[in-house]
Amino acid sequence: MSTGNGTRRLDWILSPEPSNRDLPGPGTGLTVGVLALQGDFREHRVVLEGLGALTREVRRADQLEGLDGLVIPGGESTTISKLMDACGLADPITAFSRAGGLVYGTCAGLISVARDTVEGSPPTLGLMDIVARRNAFGRQVRSFEADLVVEGLGPEPLRAVFIRAPWVESAGPGVKVLATCKGHIVAAREGGVLVTAFHPELTDDARIHELFIAMIRRREGAAPEPAGAAQLRAAGEPGRAVAVPANR
Ligand code: GLN
Repeated sequence: MSTGNGTRRLDWILSPEPSNRDLPGPGTGLTVGVLALQGDFREHRVVLEGLGALTREVRRADQLEGLDGLVIPGGESTTISKLMDACGLADPITAFSRAGGLVYGTCAGLISVARDTVEGSPPTLGLMDIVARRNAFGRQVRSFEADLVVEGLGPEPLRAVFIRAPWVESAGPGVKVLATCKGHIVAAREGGVLVTAFHPELTDDARIHELFIAMIRRREGAAPEPAGAAQLRAAGEPGRAVAVPANR
């Protein structure tokens, strides 16, 4: 990575009230797209930008160009699938993933990237060798939170928000399970595709997004993160309010 922003970093250290955007966070130098057709895409942007990444809302195929990664947010998977078709995005997103672009699907996004669903609808992109069961934990009123130990995130449990969440009913041999809840797979990765059945963008714990950024950096063969980023983060970042959207 270029070190041309050395002066800006020094300014940041001297400034009494640094803004999040100036942090040389793990995502610095990356542009991550967030599919912005429906669902909580804004919350993902906030987390990714807090980690230093530039973000771009994706509603057209040409907006995939030059992206390092793409987040498919939670929402309603049938609606997202229909809008993806209407916007001509299904094939371009598949091509983006096949060409090495990293994809992270949360909740409805997990359903979107799956090979199939138990229910047989909506049509899925088939980016990961998993079969998703929709609304697997029950209806909206059965939404819940749980503390999960997630492989690769250290021993500290992650607060996971499940909103009418799917689970991974079955997974192919190439899929690495990262977390389970109530005996079911709720976080996994295969190659350049990451999924969680829960919503890390609704808590102030950014470790799943950091994992996604680390996946992007490893895929690119780049340095894990800009020098000094870990220490600066350890110095403290402002927390964010937890807002759970009512209707999914
Ligand atoms: N139950 C929704 C669906 O099937 C997903 C819910 C969510 O993304 N929070 O699309």
